[in-house]
Amino acid sequence: MRFPLRLQYDLFRYIAKQKRAGRQHYPLVLMLEPLHACNLACAGCGRIVEYEDTYYDKLTLQECLDSVDECGAPVVSVCGGEPLIYKPTPDLLRGCFERGKHVQLCTNAILLDKFMEKVPPHTNLTIQVHLDGMRETHDRLVCQEGVFDTVVPQMKRAVERGYRVSTNTTIYKDTSLEELEELFTMLDGMGVHGFLITPGYAYQVLDNDIYLAKQEVHEKFREIREIAKRHKVLSTPLYLDFLTGDRDLDCTPWANVTRNPRGWKGPCYLITDTHYKTYRELVESTDWAFFSQRRDKRCENCKLHSGFEASAAETVTRSPKEALRFANWVVR
Ligand code: SF4
Ligand code: SF4
Repeated sequence: MRFPLRLQYDLFRYIAKQKRAGRQHYPLVLMLEPLHACNLACAGCGRIVEYEDTYYDKLTLQECLDSVDECGAPVVSVCGGEPLIYKPTPDLLRGCFERGKHVQLCTNAILLDKFMEKVPPHTNLTIQVHLDGMRETHDRLVCQEGVFDTVVPQMKRAVERGYRVSTNTTIYKDTSLEELEELFTMLDGMGVHGFLITPGYAYQVLDNDIYLAKQEVHEKFREIREIAKRHKVLSTPLYLDFLTGDRDLDCTPWANVTRNPRGWKGPCYLITDTHYKTYRELVESTDWAFFSQRRDKRCENCKLHSGFEASAAETVTRSPKEALRFANWVVR
């Protein structure tokens, strides 16, 4: 089973409720960034570039929990920056569980052992570790030697102690597909629960040459789709069709909304025009039709899961054929 049953059930119930209420722009995931500071400085990190001026700013625990309540999304992705250097993270997670939320803790895993001393495994918790390749590649991309050897044993211990652990791997221009297969095979052997793969995209604040243009995403992901047949890749079949260029999807930027120390980031997780004081202001002030149809220049090459996985999910709820395909995939 690629996703916990409880998560699937809660998401199904939540979506049905939104549809019954006639809501069109409802959130599925709150991307909660309590801080942008990090114990790494990776080459491909947009956040530490974009938020250089407010790098040391933090949300308080209460502001985080108020944001969880204000937005109401069933899934909270606690990210950043590095959430394991944010002292209130254990209390934040407890607050989310008390509210029935599912939490994805997005981390570089350097401090995972310390985290495990404070927060036991929970059915609503997935630890998602940023891992961009095997030793040499990962250390090069995170710009620090020894990180791979620091984090992999901690991930192994986390799996052994009963935490649900998955990974998130960014695919760059020079990502070797043989190495990707090697990485997934190693992680499979460790009992890691699944692998998210994200096309690296040169958005707004990043302009170096390591990212993929749209056509390059299609070519790379046609090969990755074969690898995905052999491993527990968490990108859904319909989203993979979109990544290979076999299917087009509109974007659903309202489904993954971002809250950080500057406010509610609009229009989407990736690009920034402004930060709003409240979630309501974000929803009411954004021209969703414009961004959904990708009419903004900055959307041109974007194929990120934060914009399109929810579009794929929405299509699945409307098509019995896609629903069947999804159901077969999820139990494999
Ligand atoms: S670990 Fe994540 S947040 Fe930290 S610098 Fe790298 S990409 Fe950015
Ligand atoms: S396509 Fe969607 S997620 Fe991507 S930049 Fe545009 S609005 Fe944001």
